[in-house]
Amino acid sequence: MTYEIVIIGGGPAGLSTALHLQRIAPHLSDRILILERERYPRFKLCAGGLVLDAEVILERLGLDVTEVPHVDSQQINFDFRGKGLNIRMPRKHALRVIRRDEFDNWLAKKAETRGLEIREGITVKNIIPDNEGVTIETDQGIFRAQVIVGADGSNGVTRRCIFPNASVHTARVLEVITPEYDVIASKAKQSPSKTEITSGDNAPRNDKHAFFEFSPVPSNIAGYIWDFPTQIKGEPMRCWGIYDTNLLAGESRPQLKAPLAEEMSHFGFDLNEYEIKGHPIRWFSPENPMSAARVLLVGDAAGADPLLGEGISMALGYGALAAREIHNAFERNDFSFNRYKRRVMLSGLGQSLFARWLIAQIVYPLKWAWFQMLVWRLLKPLVVVVASLLVLNWGRRLKVD
Ligand SMILES: Cc1cc2nc3c(=O)[nH]c(=O)nc-3n(C[C@H](O)[C@H](O)[C@H](O)COP(=O)(O)OP(=O)(O)OC[C@H]3O[C@@H](n4cnc5c(N)ncnc54)[C@H](O)[C@@H]3O)c2cc1C
Repeated sequence: MTYEIVIIGGGPAGLSTALHLQRIAPHLSDRILILERERYPRFKLCAGGLVLDAEVILERLGLDVTEVPHVDSQQINFDFRGKGLNIRMPRKHALRVIRRDEFDNWLAKKAETRGLEIREGITVKNIIPDNEGVTIETDQGIFRAQVIVGADGSNGVTRRCIFPNASVHTARVLEVITPEYDVIASKAKQSPSKTEITSGDNAPRNDKHAFFEFSPVPSNIAGYIWDFPTQIKGEPMRCWGIYDTNLLAGESRPQLKAPLAEEMSHFGFDLNEYEIKGHPIRWFSPENPMSAARVLLVGDAAGADPLLGEGISMALGYGALAAREIHNAFERNDFSFNRYKRRVMLSGLGQSLFARWLIAQIVYPLKWAWFQMLVWRLLKPLVVVVASLLVLNWGRRLKVD
């Protein structure tokens, strides 16, 4: 089966690439195929925190994310040992939290409604580019395309086939879903000896807020613990997790779940009572390859945010840039894609990724408690300025047409 463009992976990066292509090059729409290994709605381990940049990109595609079940967090707290910086948006939520099975299913249905073809339940096994096109070997036969897009996530087959020797930077991530604080608090009242909620720095938290806690950094875990409000099938829940860039992997570190268990225990949660799931995140580094002749990488396959492991907005942004690149390639009949990485790096997305990479190289290796307190507690105005100028608000700067 022959197509012009085969997109491998139907997560936010692959679906965004297809939706942007359809918008800027509608004549290519019926020559695009998305191959997805799973069937929607499929599980994807993710805390589902959507920053405003993601919403900006979706809005430009004419998509209203409020159609997806979500919880809005009014404030984000960046803390070290329970104290730090609070971020609020004027008249807006600071973070919108979705579940990925619902969000990705919604986005896939939007793509299908707009006439894009998605084949579910097909796993790509091998990719072989040649001078005339690309051969895609799957568990259900062989496809040919002029161009392929590797949107197959952090462990993707595209990157492994095209850049087998490229160095890979991955973060370790664990996640658990728990009931809300008040459920745990009422359990604690019923059996006070078993569960105790501490006070002081760890006083009960506002259940509308999202928390990033950097206390694991001095123990060589180069990342943070998160605690977000979420919902499962309409029921309010919390999503907890721990993120480690692995930037301090050479030092001695506790087991990744130990600081998470400790942090949760301060609020009366016993980690052992919940199912822990883990998945790596491949993060952006300036050395990551992003394209080869006839092949583009998008989303986690190209590299997510190293600082916080954020990747949904990035995946949507990569999709916009890849669509523009593919459109130009067909116009010029030149499929070398040798300027794609440069264009990504010069875009708002690339600038934000580079800034996050640079900040991660500073705030995690300088791991001492006094430095973390300085950053999150004392340098608040500087952190806010850097975040709003260099880290966030890149979505509006992304040229898509
Ligand atoms: C625990 C955890 C928490 C996170 N929390 C957040 C958060 O709160 N906010 C945020 O912005 N980001 C978060 N992220 C990161 C975010 O999940 C990713 O950056 C995002 O999913 C990247 O999108 P993608 O489309 O590139 O890849 P994916 O979402 O991984 O999609 C890849 C798709 O490709 C398919 N696929 C893979 N291999 C094949 C194959 N061989 N053949 C066919 N199909 C294939 C997969 O089934 C999948 O549907 C988190 C990640 C983890 C692990």
